[in-house]
Amino acid sequence: MSLRRWDIAVVGGGVVGLAAVRALRAAGFDAGVLEQGEAPVVLARDPRLYAIAPASVEALAGPLDAVAEAQPYRHMQVWHQQPSQALRFDAAVLRASALGWIVPESRLRADLWQALPQDRRLAGAQLRARTDHDDGVSLLLSDDSVVRCALVVACDGATSPLREAAKIPLHRWRYVQGGLVAPLDCAQPHQDTAWQRFCPDGSVVALLPLANGGCSLVWSSPDATALRALQPADFEARLTDATQGVLGHLTLAGERQVFPLAAQHAERYVDHRLVLAGDAAHTVHPLAGQGVNLGLADVQQLTAVLAAARDAGRDWSAPRVLARYQRARRAANSEMIALTDLLSRAFGPATPGLSGLLGTGMGWLDRSPSLKALLMRRAMN
Ligand SMILES: Cc1cc2nc3c(=O)[nH]c(=O)nc-3n(C[C@H](O)[C@H](O)[C@H](O)COP(=O)(O)OP(=O)(O)OC[C@H]3O[C@@H](n4cnc5c(N)ncnc54)[C@H](O)[C@@H]3O)c2cc1C
Repeated sequence: MSLRRWDIAVVGGGVVGLAAVRALRAAGFDAGVLEQGEAPVVLARDPRLYAIAPASVEALAGPLDAVAEAQPYRHMQVWHQQPSQALRFDAAVLRASALGWIVPESRLRADLWQALPQDRRLAGAQLRARTDHDDGVSLLLSDDSVVRCALVVACDGATSPLREAAKIPLHRWRYVQGGLVAPLDCAQPHQDTAWQRFCPDGSVVALLPLANGGCSLVWSSPDATALRALQPADFEARLTDATQGVLGHLTLAGERQVFPLAAQHAERYVDHRLVLAGDAAHTVHPLAGQGVNLGLADVQQLTAVLAAARDAGRDWSAPRVLARYQRARRAANSEMIALTDLLSRAFGPATPGLSGLLGTGMGWLDRSPSLKALLMRRAMN
């Protein structure tokens, strides 16, 4: 039986888990990752793309090639009734080079994975049992090897087996919308702009600019499954209509995929020698493209709290230290969950009067430069 001794074991090699290992190692902790799936590889056409905010790039512990080569978006245009009444955001107003970067998930994961030492990244690692000791935790893997550590960070996604095993209660609600994603070719240049329309039928359609000149579609719609079933030409006509032709005729450049949409929030982020981060702790409606950014902010906070305790000569895995992380992140994540939930309902089909009012409000907000700059700074952090 082989025994590995690490300071911290991160369970889950999604973007948040891999970023956590990278950040913790950069802060001087001996951290490693256990991923049940295969080692991440770059996909030719990645169905999932992330809008990575500038503050999240820091959480990735320095610019990665995946970010350096990503498509920056320098403008954002959000509208309801007419594109002419849109709320427009511009990076130049804040003297920033970009509002964020559109990065394919597989590229980000593969880069983060490759950046770790080989003996600190275990693929195909099925967790069989966890045993608590006074001074640490042992994780038994399916190949009978054991990882012994002082702290486990659960980055094992929305269905988090570690959260379930710790019996941490979860608040969860489903949205009537599903999320449809697909790569697109556009008749007109995307102008380094992320486009988003809150449509009158309660759907939210987002076009994220890609380095190949096309766009990635995220369409949160009550009819997502029916939209996927449409013939390509009918789908493209519906989509071009929903986006009011801002990028001309839109053409499918790959498969359409549909995801159920749900928001959830763990009641606690902390248990005995266990902390939750990323989707294991919270998921949000994708309309603000914030899911992974919230997880990367968790990583930053956790690393800072643990390093501060260690540097002060305290036990960095003690419950009081972990509680500091929970206090800071749970409040911030609650705020974003509430905001995205409010927006999805306010623009939903059940509240047409309110959505009309909010649509007018966007035009008004667009003419308020200081309020707009405030919103932009908030979105970039
Ligand atoms: C339609 C849609 C569009 C989205 N668009 C955006 C967007 O534009 N921008 C954005 O920021 N976010 C977006 N999100 C949200 C984003 O996908 C998630 O927030 C993000 O993937 C969370 O990352 P994670 O690492 O926490 O979890 P995951 O990506 O779910 O990774 C969890 C990992 O843990 C592994 N694992 C699970 N159990 C175990 C175990 N027992 N042992 C070992 N490994 C285990 C899994 O194999 C997996 O690799 C979107 C979501 C949806 C549904």
